Amino acid sequence: KLASREFHKPDSAVYVGKVKIGAGSLAMIAGPCAVENYEVMDTVAKYVKAGGANILRGGAFKPRTSPYAFQGMGEDGLKILKDVGQKYDMPVVTEVMDPRQVDLVCRYTDMLQIGARNMQNFDLLKECGKANKPVLLKRGMSATVKDLLMSAEYILAEGNKDVVLVERGVRSFEDSTRNMLDMSAVPNVKGQSHLPIIVDPSHATGRPDLIPAMCRASVAAGADGVHVEVHNCPEKAMSDGPQALLPHQFLDLMGDLRRLATAM
Ligand code: PEP
Ligand code: MN
Repeated sequence: KLASREFHKPDSAVYVGKVKIGAGSLAMIAGPCAVENYEVMDTVAKYVKAGGANILRGGAFKPRTSPYAFQGMGEDGLKILKDVGQKYDMPVVTEVMDPRQVDLVCRYTDMLQIGARNMQNFDLLKECGKANKPVLLKRGMSATVKDLLMSAEYILAEGNKDVVLVERGVRSFEDSTRNMLDMSAVPNVKGQSHLPIIVDPSHATGRPDLIPAMCRASVAAGADGVHVEVHNCPEKAMSDGPQALLPHQFLDLMGDLRRLATAM
């Protein structure tokens, strides 16, 4: 299997623009859940850049539980994300939900995100496998580690070698967190695969008070980075406001992660 350690012994590195992920380099992906307008994107980007984030995120196509919830700005959002990424000299990542959107999204982004809900959308995996962009593949909320690696295999099998995996929590009986963060997925994947894996404590816990500790645990566990949602005004955010870190909280967190990474 192309994703397996047997196929490729050393850790693989994936480049997103000039940013290296894996094989000793940490991805610090941060930004609002959704691209809402230019001002919010610009403000959040300014703060996360100052904190030391190296990749900017923002969803233009949002997979919402309710069809009546904000669905994202679409192509207008992609344009804003690209402009702001260029302004702050940060590569950008955004979600693609449908195989028919891949060409459009590729025109604006440096990395394609496949969301948890689409981890086994096999046509989407294949289409992203044909694209000329690295892919951020999130673990489904009821997918095993084996399922995640098989989904990565779909992308690799089409010729795209640049896949970064994301642990973002799975469904459980615990109802005080949004999902249950499976921290063991990090060393578990590392044992079986050469692909980089990062952790998304924002979607895993849904709780800003838990995100910093889970980010530190991720780095300690050997993750190749973290993925964190940040908003300058969470109570007005159009999606995932309750889990967003405030800019100053993100700055503190990044300082802690830098100290931890150099101490390791
Ligand atoms: C997101 O990154 O905003 C998102 C929807 O994540 P997930 O697919 O992990 O739920
Ligand atoms: Mn989100």
